[in-house]
Order: sequence, then C-alpha cells, then structure tokens
Amino acid sequence: MSDETPMDEIEQGKIELIMGLRRQGIRDKRVLSALERVPREKFISGTFRKQAYENHALPIECGQTISQPYIVAYMTEQLQVGERMKVLEIGTGSGYQAAVLARLCRRVYTIERYRTLLKDALKRFEELNINNITAKVGDGAQGWPEQAPFDRIIVTAAAPAVPQKLVEQLKEGGLMIVPVAASGGRGEQKLVRIERTGEGVKREELLPVRFVPLVEGVAKES
Ligand code: SAH
Repeated sequence: MSDETPMDEIEQGKIELIMGLRRQGIRDKRVLSALERVPREKFISGTFRKQAYENHALPIECGQTISQPYIVAYMTEQLQVGERMKVLEIGTGSGYQAAVLARLCRRVYTIERYRTLLKDALKRFEELNINNITAKVGDGAQGWPEQAPFDRIIVTAAAPAVPQKLVEQLKEGGLMIVPVAASGGRGEQKLVRIERTGEGVKREELLPVRFVPLVEGVAKES
C-alpha cells in the first residue's frame, strides 16, 4: 500500500477479501492461506494500490492486468497443486500468481513477453524472499522445453486455442488451466482444464473469463 495507508486498513481489507473468496466457493485451505500470505499490494503500483484487496483485476505496466483475486484463487484451486510439483506459468505480469503458486509447490517457472514486467516481478520476488521461482523473457506459447515436463501448467493470457506445445510439455497425469477465446471472437473466453492421460487429452470447460490476449513473440520495448 502507499505509505499513507495504515497497516490495519490493509489487514481489514485482506480479511474481508478472504471471507468473500470463501463465500464465492473457494474451499481449499492451502489456496486461501497462500492468498492471505502473499501481499497483493506489493504487486500493484501507484494509485491502484489502495484497491489491492478489492476483488477485481487492476492495471499494471505495459497495458497488462493483474488478475482478479477470485480468478487467481479459482485457477489455483482447480490446478490442484501439490508441494513437490514443478509448475509452469505463462504470463508473469506482476508476478502475483507466480508468488501464490510458489507457496504451494516446489518450483515455479514463469515466462513473460515484456522485459519490463519481468524485471519488476523479479524485484518483488527478491524483496519478498521468494526463492523458488525461475523466470525468463520469452514467448510462452513455446513453453520451456529445457525444463519440461511439468506437473502443472497455468496460462494467464487468453489463447486462440489450447497451445499444443504446452500440452506436449505436460507430464502424464498432469493438468493445465488455460483461458481460450471462443470461436467467433467477440471477446468471449472460457477457462479450460486439460488433463494429459495415457490415452490422450481430456478437456473440461470451467468458467467464462476475461483475460488479456496471449500474443505471439517477445514484446518490442523502446
Ligand atoms: N499472472 C499475471 C497476470 C498477467 S496478465 C499476474 O499475476 O499479474 C497476462 C500476461 O501475459 C501479460 O503480462 C502479458 O504480457 C503476458 N503475455 C501475453 N502473451 C504472452 C506470451 N506469448 N508469452 C509470455 N507472456 C505473455
């Protein structure tokens, strides 16, 4: 929060947010506790900081957004992350989702196409003493072949279709959550959960969502 925001105001906001998430159906105690412990205000800058514990998405640098806490909680819960797992995230953004995952698994690998965002996220991980996140600039649609396979993959930008390269980097029995733009466009997106099984791939549609698009290639920055 900004220096003027008193600590008990932050704490109060946080308590209300967690109660709200429970009411909205988030049950997993590990997930709720991770959201309680990661200071979302540290992932937001400027005037938006005071809204850190309101349940909505907020703008970050480079025209991107930090996801709504409910969506972070929901996706994390649906991902069923275990403490020994290796998780790949596409779309580091502010680093918030990665920081939540880092509390729940062995190591998070995260890819962002904007160098500026990645640099800021890395600074936050360091300040918060989070040591189990490995991050790089790149095109997330290509995944991270050198580190594959992954137990879990989470994509936090909307893909035109389930990215095949990512499915290939999922372990057998692994899960991936990805927002997929509905055919025909008009901004509609569905959260999809993919399970890689011995026989192939199981696909399940979860919620309608709204994410910034997954864009090809590394961003050109001045
Ligand atoms: N998980 C983030 C939310 C980020 S919004 C958080 O917790 O704050 C989605 C992010 O995906 C944006 O930062 C955007 O730049 C990034 N992105 C979009 N297309 C990408 C791609 N092909 N590879 C890597 N990152 C991408």
